[in-house]
Amino acid sequence: MKVTKAELARVAVKPDQYPTTRLPEIALSGRSNVGKSSFINKMINRKGLARTSQKPGKTQTLNFYEINEQIYFVDVPGYGFAKVPKSEREAWGKMIETYLQDREQLKAVVQIVDLRHPPSADDKMMYQWLKHFDIPVIVVATKSDKIPKGKWQKHLKVIAKDLEKAESDPIMLFSSETAQGKEELWKKILYYASN
Ligand code: GDP
Repeated sequence: MKVTKAELARVAVKPDQYPTTRLPEIALSGRSNVGKSSFINKMINRKGLARTSQKPGKTQTLNFYEINEQIYFVDVPGYGFAKVPKSEREAWGKMIETYLQDREQLKAVVQIVDLRHPPSADDKMMYQWLKHFDIPVIVVATKSDKIPKGKWQKHLKVIAKDLEKAESDPIMLFSSETAQGKEELWKKILYYASN
């Protein structure tokens, strides 16, 4: 996919702030620091467009990146900060639940996990939540450059098993360093976006 145009088109906390264009949307989810911003920047060839690591205390927003006037990436704030106050966690939960449950043009969620480690309790909870809402998930195991090639399949297996991943959901390797998986992922994303 050749990205010719990408911009942060909307920042939203509630539905009346979502885009009104009705383009298909792909949401990106992952625990903080997993490499979600790096993933977005790599996929759209823009070094600093997605801000890395939203820290607790900052306003948590849904960021809609419009790409080629064709599709949105919706950056969902990262989960799993140890010390986030309960009130903030609840606001986060409400905001993303509203979005995930009700958004008709949401076609799939890319859930990003770290290829090096088994999924965290939060990763598992997030995945099961998405499945509860019947949302297709593309599991992306990032930072593949940090693991020798010979171990990739073994790590993917552990992740799939621990998440209790549905057969129908793909799991794919990715690296923001080497761009491994990038074209294959674009194909997959565009496939989901057109369904
Ligand atoms: P976010 O909090 O999920 O948005 O995570 P970031 O994109 O800010 O990434 C967290 C850290 O991991 C940064 O230091 C990135 O440079 C690093 N990182 C992200 N993706 C990769 C990757 O694919 N390979 C390597 N080696 N480092 C990565």
